[in-house]
Amino acid sequence: MSLRLFNTLTKQVEEFTPIKKDEVGFYSCGPTVYGYQHIGNYRSYVFADTLKRVLRYNGYNVTHVMNLTDVGHLTSQADTGEDKMEKAAKKEGKTAWEVAEFYTKDFWVAMDKLHNTRPDIVCKATEHIKEQIELVKILQEKGFTYKTSDGMYFNTSLLPDYGKLAGQHFDEKLSQARIEHDPEKKNQSDFALWKFSPKGEKRQMEWESPWGVGFPGWHIECSAMSTKYLGQPFDIHTGGIDHIAIHHTNEIAQSEAAYNLPLAKYWLHNEFLLVDGQKMSKSLGNVYTYVDIEKMRFDMVALRYLYLTTHYRSKMNFTGKSLSAAQNALSSLQEKVATYGESKVGCAEYEEKFLSALNNDLDTPSAIAIMWDMVKSDKPGSAKKASLLKFDEVLGLGLADIKKEQIPDDIQALAKKREDVRKAGNFSEADVIRKELLTKGYSVEDTPEGPKVKKTR
Ligand code: AMP
Ligand code: ZN
Repeated sequence: MSLRLFNTLTKQVEEFTPIKKDEVGFYSCGPTVYGYQHIGNYRSYVFADTLKRVLRYNGYNVTHVMNLTDVGHLTSQADTGEDKMEKAAKKEGKTAWEVAEFYTKDFWVAMDKLHNTRPDIVCKATEHIKEQIELVKILQEKGFTYKTSDGMYFNTSLLPDYGKLAGQHFDEKLSQARIEHDPEKKNQSDFALWKFSPKGEKRQMEWESPWGVGFPGWHIECSAMSTKYLGQPFDIHTGGIDHIAIHHTNEIAQSEAAYNLPLAKYWLHNEFLLVDGQKMSKSLGNVYTYVDIEKMRFDMVALRYLYLTTHYRSKMNFTGKSLSAAQNALSSLQEKVATYGESKVGCAEYEEKFLSALNNDLDTPSAIAIMWDMVKSDKPGSAKKASLLKFDEVLGLGLADIKKEQIPDDIQALAKKREDVRKAGNFSEADVIRKELLTKGYSVEDTPEGPKVKKTR
């Protein structure tokens, strides 16, 4: 069953065929580590992780590379404004390096809580300055660069297909990005490859280069590092849709101009997470972090479940109500798994449907619906569990770690006694035993299938 994915480059759903048989080189844009990532950002990492899991589920060997932007991302997309890292350092009274370390750690805590599998290679912009300078040198030799008073710029008018990733809406997207007018630039879409440290000012993060002391532009890191670890072209590049018009467009421009080869074969982008109809973003101040989610007493895995109930190319409006529903769905799934027996044989027809939903451009909402159809079916619990564990290789809900709840013998005996007296019509004694069970940390629920004993703490 072939995997089909929507490619932003061609604007259509295509059959996925890797460049090298069975091997997939996969690069996903990672966080800028100047502050806490919000759950909008994490939508993009759960999407990347799901794609990686689906590729592996289909038998591919995936090499996943993710960058950490720890220098060069300016407060404006137009290569103006302050460096986000240095700005945060001033505000927090730390060094830029300390800021990067702190938020990187926080990022991995949330990634683990979300069950996002770690990338095979994690690369920091500050540890690849040499590679970035080399790439700018190649572009300079090929005549794609020019110098302004604040840096070395890429001349986008020299590439006839510049902007192809964004397609016909490129101009509109560029104007939405509110690039400020810079009279020194030859074209307003030109972008910085290398920025000079401001005159008379010593930056915390700066390096020597053939053009002067400074730091790399934001886009050059992804071009330099993706190609270093995956070669060029590689198979898949991902990020959020806000990267299409500028960051990814400029990555493509630099890399293709330098090597005359495509950068990546498939480009995939996740839609935004919204709050009250607006993009969740730090600048709008409408963000939730993983700590906020946990303060609301939700599990991050429930958030993962919630993300998966919306297709990655659809906007997703975040509400506490939807997260609460996801948490309930997840808990009920976990309870079911805890009651099922073991089997090696699953429910083949559901497994087939599940895979075909995923292979249809990662249709996780349908895959989840198929999973629930199976759970509600009259198939044996053990077969359902076998399939659920397979599905979970993609869903990542941690179902394999759910242990059958062990109820101690004395509690079981007490619950049986309660059931006996209840059946005999002695309800007041049954109630006394229920209270005794509660003080021992167990509740009893009378269900059509008989009493169910559960741990309460
Ligand atoms: P940044 O740290 O700003 O570079 O963003 C990290 C990732 O999160 C990028 O891939 C962005 O495209 C993505 N992103 C930012 N805001 C949102 C949002 N509200 N919903 C989904 N993805 C987002
Ligand atoms: Zn990037």
